Amino acid sequence: MFNKILIANRGEIACRVIKTARRMGIRTVAVYSEADANARHVRLADEAVLLGPAAARESYLVAEKIVEACQRTGAQAVHPGYGFLSENADFADALAANGIAFIGPPASAIRAMGSKSEAKKLMGAAAVPLTPGYHGDDQDPVLLHREADVIGYPVLIKAAAGGGGKGMRLVEQSADFPDALASCKREAISSFGNDHVLIEKYITRPRHIEIQVFADTLGNCVYLFERDCSVQRRHQKVLEEAPAPGMTAERRRQMGDAAVAAAKAVGYVGAGTVEFIANQDGSFYFMEMNTRLQVEHPVTEMITGQDLVEWQLRVAAGQPLPLRQEQLAIRGHALEARIYAEDANKGFLPATGRLVRLLPPAETLNVRVDTGVEQGDEITPWYDPMIAKLIVWDETRDAALARMRKALADYQVAGLTTNIDFLSRLVACPAFAGADLDTGLIERQQDFLFPAAQPVPRDALLVATVGELLWEQHAARQVAQASGDPWSPWHARDGWRMNLSSARTISFRDGEALVDARVRYRHEHWEISIAGTTTIARGKKLDGDRFAVELDDRRLIASVVAVDDKRSVFFQGSTYSLLRDDPLHRVDAGDSHGGGLTAPMPGKVVALLAQPGQKVEKGTPLLILEAMKMEHTITAPAAGIVKAFCYAAGEQVGDGAALVEFEGEA
Ligand code: ADP
Ligand code: ADP
Ligand code: MG
Repeated sequence: MFNKILIANRGEIACRVIKTARRMGIRTVAVYSEADANARHVRLADEAVLLGPAAARESYLVAEKIVEACQRTGAQAVHPGYGFLSENADFADALAANGIAFIGPPASAIRAMGSKSEAKKLMGAAAVPLTPGYHGDDQDPVLLHREADVIGYPVLIKAAAGGGGKGMRLVEQSADFPDALASCKREAISSFGNDHVLIEKYITRPRHIEIQVFADTLGNCVYLFERDCSVQRRHQKVLEEAPAPGMTAERRRQMGDAAVAAAKAVGYVGAGTVEFIANQDGSFYFMEMNTRLQVEHPVTEMITGQDLVEWQLRVAAGQPLPLRQEQLAIRGHALEARIYAEDANKGFLPATGRLVRLLPPAETLNVRVDTGVEQGDEITPWYDPMIAKLIVWDETRDAALARMRKALADYQVAGLTTNIDFLSRLVACPAFAGADLDTGLIERQQDFLFPAAQPVPRDALLVATVGELLWEQHAARQVAQASGDPWSPWHARDGWRMNLSSARTISFRDGEALVDARVRYRHEHWEISIAGTTTIARGKKLDGDRFAVELDDRRLIASVVAVDDKRSVFFQGSTYSLLRDDPLHRVDAGDSHGGGLTAPMPGKVVALLAQPGQKVEKGTPLLILEAMKMEHTITAPAAGIVKAFCYAAGEQVGDGAALVEFEGEA
């Protein structure tokens, strides 16, 4: 076995490989780009080598730099993960030429399966069932059109070099063919540098069912059963499961045998996945082979009890497969959901930003979280916006689904948009729960999956209001402690006022709607009125952003995470998004570096929350102004220094008066 391996990848898959290597006593070398200098995979590895700038083609995709990193660190083998160089035959050759083992198939097998057309030719010869279509070398547009007419519409034009759901065009009728062909070729050239296409009969309501295969260098080849990956958006997998619902033992054997035949036909070694497109009646056709470890491999690990990365390492080191076909069995059911930074309601548009809060559900024997990020990390525009893979297991599909629902409900992320709510609806959707699967499920269930926005419930608004009140109390206490006079009444944030009514309004925006919470300070509690109904509320800050709330006679634990004016309210397994609406804050936030922060209307300074000369972060509360019977927190518009306050607490200020002299950081 190897002593040291290098992982030529990043994110969750790099972390996942490191985990197994460590368990097996193998030292690990991470590689990273400038954008990933503090990434989790770098922190987990025994050592790490900087490759270059953030752009993948200047770092993770530069084969020579990886070979050089192996030489410098003495790594004996490279695990390529998925994506990046994992299906690059030239990279496998380059490693071999330098005496470094590639933890993957021989370069010849990668080449054989690299082109969907060439692969289909080989598979046809190996008697693997093929999707009806044309996969010839002649690319004359007139001939391609004629072939499409013969196949019969709808047809799918596919880039032979395609991947990741890109380079495909559905054509419904003959007249549309020439334009679709031209546009497919354009995308194929720009994405894959090769505009060779094939044409397939478009299967209606198909399922995507794939078989995990494994071969060693001694001629053994087994299959580790199937995964159903029918739930897709833009031909990309969103949710995967194993085994495939409704699969019979006989069909499983047929598909397994076909996949093993496919692997053997190309002299395959290591982990591979043979993808089939299946009709609702169970008949299936070869689609393509992915010559690497697949993103969704954990569901197979959960139902077989095997560690596929360990198998990969053993095979690459020349050892035989750990088990024979008859020693492999399926136990229970596993589901995987891909947690992405993306906006499902905006066509699954990728999102970026800092993971201000990232609290995944606790890992147990039933719940696994594979991730490459931790709280505080950033999802950058440079790479795939996947935050994590959430994998659950149980004895039955229904029990696994229940676990998935709970795990998604417990998943707390704030700071950027995620698909967690979408996934929650997906697993609750009757079609999915009832295993009525096909690749059009998301499209067809639009109404269920993308409901009109619901107003944030009253309890969540109450929780958000208590969150604001507790936060102010906490901030005021810190200021009081920092100042020489911790007992000054001006520091109190309990609503105590000289000659002032102790009621105020805290406002939120819920989508387009403005919601006012009227707060009255009582001796031991608050009275919060929203839309004419009053609730007695108490609250106590716990660790971090968690707090205990009492609403009339109910007690609950909640958290509110604040990023600028955004508020993410987490409680009872749901996340609600609000904006704190503070008219003065808005005006002042626009008043950038330097210059005074001014009062946009006449009012009274209620409290100074910082010390002159104090260094503050952007958003630190500086001063509270009461105007028009409401109070407003003036916050630092940027990181910088509070030079001076222009008024003392209790003084009246006129419209446009400068309140704070503030110097923003350069
Ligand atoms: P990629 O290399 O991008 O993964 P695939 O050939 O594996 O391309 O196809 C991706 C997805 O496109 C499949 O999972 C399936 O949903 C859909 N698809 C592919 N071929 C067909 C077909 N002939 N009929 C219907 N859907 C198809
Ligand atoms: P501590 O929680 O120990 O006081 P910090 O002072 O560093 O630690 O807390 C700053 C964090 O508090 C910020 O990241 C911000 O998200 C959060 N925060 C600011 N305003 C609020 C609010 N109204 N409700 C909840 N959290 C808030
Ligand atoms: Mg595919």
